[in-house]
Amino acid sequence: MRYMKLGKTGLKISEVGFGGIPIIRLHVDTAVAVLRRAYERGITFYDTANIYRDSEEKIGRAFDGMRKEIVIATKTFQRDAVHVTKHIENSLRMLKTDYIDLYQLHQVAQEKDLLAISAPGGALEAVTKAHDQGKVRFIGVTSHNLGMAVKLVKTDLFATVQFPFNFIEQEPKDELHRAARKRDMGILAMKPFAGGVIDNAELAIKFLRQHPDVIPLPGCDSVASVDQVVSFYGRENKVTKKDRELMDKYRVELGRKFCHRCEYCQPCPHGVMITPAMAYNIVAARMSPAVAVDFSRVMMESVKLCEECGECEERCPYELPVQEMLKANYDLYERHRAGLK
Ligand code: SF4
Ligand code: SF4
Repeated sequence: MRYMKLGKTGLKISEVGFGGIPIIRLHVDTAVAVLRRAYERGITFYDTANIYRDSEEKIGRAFDGMRKEIVIATKTFQRDAVHVTKHIENSLRMLKTDYIDLYQLHQVAQEKDLLAISAPGGALEAVTKAHDQGKVRFIGVTSHNLGMAVKLVKTDLFATVQFPFNFIEQEPKDELHRAARKRDMGILAMKPFAGGVIDNAELAIKFLRQHPDVIPLPGCDSVASVDQVVSFYGRENKVTKKDRELMDKYRVELGRKFCHRCEYCQPCPHGVMITPAMAYNIVAARMSPAVAVDFSRVMMESVKLCEECGECEERCPYELPVQEMLKANYDLYERHRAGLK
């Protein structure tokens, strides 16, 4: 395992981090075992979020008494100072720590999000205060909207940027990563397996290792999957012609049905929460159907409001069959819900 600086934060972290979503579906003892295995195998950087159910609590439990050995990043969806302050205090409690290394404002995707976080009484005010109090060491941002992510980087308000990056979603490597590098920002790659869509972990990591200053955050749900991810790092990285062809094949096969969570399709004039509903199949695979049904209930119930006006499809830059995909996800949600009864 190689260790490196996370851009201008100066935080020393492992070249691959740990994404905190898949441990949601694990029993606490298993989650602790997986996290400890990750640490034993050299992973020192753990990324989670207030919204990831008990993920923070499990990380807090796994590393109780080892705070200085690891670097913790967490995040909030909240946009106003009051709620962000509450989330920071809650994260500190769950993580059993008195400081968070990196606190990120999560999924700043639209202009209204940027306005809200930077307004008086907005999220940035609360994080800056927490920083001044020593509760937060560095402030970062995450997004799924490329144009907005570039804009956020150029504000110079953040020390890191986290954006999806994998061989299906390669777009960030140009303008976004370049702009971040120019500012010596830390670059974090969420969804290194495209949210579970890429089932070839070795190929996914091979692609990512071509970009050694971009830190991937794969989520692992077993000791074996930790061992597998780490095993891809201790060797020379060779991307062959055959590998590239295989990556292209995935892109072609998935391209017509892959939602980038960019939110260009929103808002829906009839109140459908399009982007989160589009991700239901991925959420269910990562969290387990039982947790996903509970977690996604509000967004999936909103699908019933669809009036089939087609506006979302006109706005989607990837020309996805949004209505068809929403319907498929709603059917899946219904099946999972029925399974719970
Ligand atoms: S087609 Fe349905 S989901 Fe899309 S914008 Fe119209 S009402 Fe909303
Ligand atoms: S449906 Fe299209 S516009 Fe909407 S989030 Fe997905 S990729 Fe973006």
